[in-house]
Amino acid sequence: MSPVFAEIQAYEMAKLSGRLPVRVWLTLLGDPGVSIVEDAWRAGLLSGVGDDMLRVGGVKIFLDGSAGGRTAWMTKPYEGEPDNIGVQMLPDETVEAVVRDCHDRGYQMVCHAIGDGAIEQLITAYEKALAANPDPDRRHRIEHCGFSTPAQNARMQAAGILPAPQMAFIHDFGDSYISVLGEARGKLSYPIGTWMRMGMKPSTGSDSPVCSPNPFPNLHAMITRQTGKGTVMEASERLSPEEALQAYTEYGAWSQKAEAVKGRLVPGQWADIAVFDNDLLTAEPENILSGTRCLLTLLAGRVVHDVR
Ligand SMILES: [Zn+2]
Repeated sequence: MSPVFAEIQAYEMAKLSGRLPVRVWLTLLGDPGVSIVEDAWRAGLLSGVGDDMLRVGGVKIFLDGSAGGRTAWMTKPYEGEPDNIGVQMLPDETVEAVVRDCHDRGYQMVCHAIGDGAIEQLITAYEKALAANPDPDRRHRIEHCGFSTPAQNARMQAAGILPAPQMAFIHDFGDSYISVLGEARGKLSYPIGTWMRMGMKPSTGSDSPVCSPNPFPNLHAMITRQTGKGTVMEASERLSPEEALQAYTEYGAWSQKAEAVKGRLVPGQWADIAVFDNDLLTAEPENILSGTRCLLTLLAGRVVHDVR
């Protein structure tokens, strides 16, 4: 067995021995030099292959770094550093060649792009691959997508490209975005309200271990746009509690092409259900953040967590 499959084998073994507590959607590393895509493809591990607990997802390559670390690739310089626009990881030709190759092999792409420079490069690569080899339902994603511009949002919408942000970043890092990018750019980061109103089906996640997997800071940030210190990051980008839950559940499923089987509480879907001691649709946001517990969790109708 190729050593690149050691981690996939570990997940498979955990599943077989009943030690996999959550459904896993595997993301394959596609960066030049360390890519496992060629080996995965030869082994038949295409996006969608697998079963209900363990499935091959998309391919991820990294186009830039992080905003807080001043390494997200921006089109304009960081505050107080007129020569620093962050880090461009790969030339355009490389990104376009990797995206095109994976797209043509049938993979969904879920590439890391945070700054507007990286997002621009990635949208262009997705657009070119989709134009050369059309697939109206491939659902390529932009992971993080922190600083997309209105023009970029429009191009994403037109091409069916999904924003896949982690709204816990607003809670954990919002104040650092303001200090490294200034108030105007910092506060407009992760414009999930805009994406929601445009019908772009934004999902959300924790990026754990970058942020805690605790869902409550994520929900709180979507509803309030408040950082951990209480700074409001552009109130017009707030979601209603219903929209925040929709992003966290239904649109997460959509982002994996799994909306037919999970993401909603309706007959016919897998019974993956979390029960909280608080009504998340009506609770005060403060109470969601610090006063809510998950009492019961069902995985496919089976109790896997119970603190009642
Ligand atoms: Zn990433």
